[in-house]
Amino acid sequence: MSALTGLIIAAHGRHYLADADGAKLQCVTRGKKTNVAVGDRVKLTLTSPDQAVIDGIDERQTLLYRSDQYKSKLLAANLSQLFIVVATEPGFADDLVSRSLVAAEAAGITARLILNKTDVTASLGKTRERLAPYAALGYPVHEVSAKGDPAHAVATLAPLLAGQSSILIGQSGMGKSSLINLLVPDADIAVREISAALDTGKHTTTFTRLYQLPELGAGSSIIDSPGFQEFGLYHLSEGMLERAFVDFAPYLGQCKFYNCRHLIEPQCAVLSAVAEGKITRMRHTLYGQLLHESAQTLY
Ligand code: GDP
Ligand code: ZN
Repeated sequence: MSALTGLIIAAHGRHYLADADGAKLQCVTRGKKTNVAVGDRVKLTLTSPDQAVIDGIDERQTLLYRSDQYKSKLLAANLSQLFIVVATEPGFADDLVSRSLVAAEAAGITARLILNKTDVTASLGKTRERLAPYAALGYPVHEVSAKGDPAHAVATLAPLLAGQSSILIGQSGMGKSSLINLLVPDADIAVREISAALDTGKHTTTFTRLYQLPELGAGSSIIDSPGFQEFGLYHLSEGMLERAFVDFAPYLGQCKFYNCRHLIEPQCAVLSAVAEGKITRMRHTLYGQLLHESAQTLY
């Protein structure tokens, strides 16, 4: 038995795959622990040439949670950047975009939007209008067309990935897989390898995996996660939640009551900003929903 360190590159239930200096090791946790996430740096003890036990997890820079409906509550560790892929067609849900932005903000992760399918010009103008509020909040919107102009898409996104550990998320149909395939040319092969090593059977796309992108510079990686991640926000306290709304920032601390929850309180600076159109109703409504959801899990 020998000790070594590795990077968790895929997770499927309680089975993990770690990359240890290029060697792919099947890993399990001790006991029934499922506190390991893709992106974790771990201490391993080899139990066979290609198997190991996870003995420890290095301190995390960041951590994203999944919604409670999943067994494993951890989505990804040590991310520095989150990309939300939206498209001109089909339409995207503002609610999901905003929830993802709140999750990123609360975790201390930079968030960016990718507007894909700019070749669908009929709905381009309207989609840009829908995205303008996010750009106004400081979230960059990068326009690409994975199918129409793949070289431009790579030229736009590759520099943003350099040196970062990123995750791409998006509702189905937005073009997330098309973008991953452009950015990670051998993604299909990697998925097959990981799937075989993890023994996931035919369900090759139902696990979160990390692709290393050494050609973009040390530490560059991108995580692909199946489906749209409903982020778990239940772990956030009320204070963390209000701070995750960047548009609330100028008004926090200005309310009459120091413990104002910005829902119905008199002389609330946040509610005044909503009334004046400085904070959108959509964002304030989402804040109320998230506050309600987190309160429900407490009682
Ligand atoms: P995912 O569900 O987000 O992974 O999306 P896919 O990558 O599977 O793409 C969904 C559909 O959109 C497919 O039919 C793609 O061919 C199409 N698509 C992806 N990117 C573009 C694009 O830039 N322009 C157009 N017109 N279609 C695209
Ligand atoms: Zn208030």
